[in-house]
Amino acid sequence: MEVIRAKSAGFCFGVKRAVEKVYEQIGKGRKIYTFGPIIHNEEVVRDLEARGVSVIEGIEELKALDEGMVVIRSHGVSKEVYDLLEKKGLECVDATCPFVKRIHDIVEKESGQGKKIVIIGNPGHPEVEGIKGWSSGEVEIIESIEQAERFTNEEKNLAVKEEKICIVSQTTFNYNKFKELVEIFLKKGYNVSVANTICSATEERQTEARQIASQVENMIVIGGTHSSNTRKLYEICKEECENTYFIQTLDDLRLELPKAASPVGITAGASTPNNIIEEVQNYVRINF
Ligand code: SF4
Repeated sequence: MEVIRAKSAGFCFGVKRAVEKVYEQIGKGRKIYTFGPIIHNEEVVRDLEARGVSVIEGIEELKALDEGMVVIRSHGVSKEVYDLLEKKGLECVDATCPFVKRIHDIVEKESGQGKKIVIIGNPGHPEVEGIKGWSSGEVEIIESIEQAERFTNEEKNLAVKEEKICIVSQTTFNYNKFKELVEIFLKKGYNVSVANTICSATEERQTEARQIASQVENMIVIGGTHSSNTRKLYEICKEECENTYFIQTLDDLRLELPKAASPVGITAGASTPNNIIEEVQNYVRINF
C-alpha cells in the first residue's frame, strides 16, 4: 500500500527540543520532575516515568518539593513559578519554546509600560496561564467574537477607551480568527498595539493535513487523546476525507482496507513521537 506521510507530522521544533532536554537529564543521579506532562502523549510520559521522571501537577506540588531538578516544558510557565524555583533553590532546566518566551517578554515589557494585556487564546490552556503570569497589570483572555464584543461594549470600557492595550496570541490560535477578533478592537477605536505571536508550525501542519486528506480515501491521524492540536487535525481531515481514523498508537488501528484502495494518508499531532508514526506507516505499507 502506498502511504502519503505528511512531512510536518509529529514533533514541532519546540516540543522536540523539550523532550530531548528531559532525556538528556536522565542518568545524572538526580530526581527529575517536569512541571506538567512534558507533552500530551501518554506513551512518552509513561516511558519517562519508567526512567524515573515524575510529573508535578501544579504550583502546590512544587511548593512541597525540596530537592531534585525541574524541567519547564515548551508551553512555558508564569513568572511566579521561576520565582518559587529560585526561592526553593531548585535546579531548573528551561525548555520553554523560544516562540513562547518571546510572548512572555512582550507581556512583561508592555504591561510594565502600563498597557492592559489582552491574550487571544484558550483560558484553560497552560500556555495562556503562563503568558498571563508575566503581566504586572490587568489581563483579559478572549477567545470568541462574543467575548470581544462584550469586552469592547462594556460601559466601564467606554471610559477607558484611551487606555493602551497590547494584544498577543496563544501560539496555536487560528490566524483568521485572531484577525477577526483584533478587527473588533480596531473598529471600536481602541488604542491597541498588536503582536501576532501565532506559531507557523501549527498552520503548516494543518494545511498539509488538509491537502493530503483531500487526495486520499483513508486518512490516519496519530496523537494523544488529550492533545487539542491532534483533535483539530482530525476535524480538518474528517472534513476532507470521510474515512479518517484518530489513533494513539498502532494498537488502536482497526483498518479494513481493500487491497486496491488509494494511498493512505498519515499525519500526526505535535506531541507524537517519530517511532510511533513510523510503526503505523510501516504497518499500513506492509499489511495492505
Ligand atoms: S507549536 Fe510552535 S510555539 Fe508551540 S512548541 Fe511548537 S514550535 Fe514552539
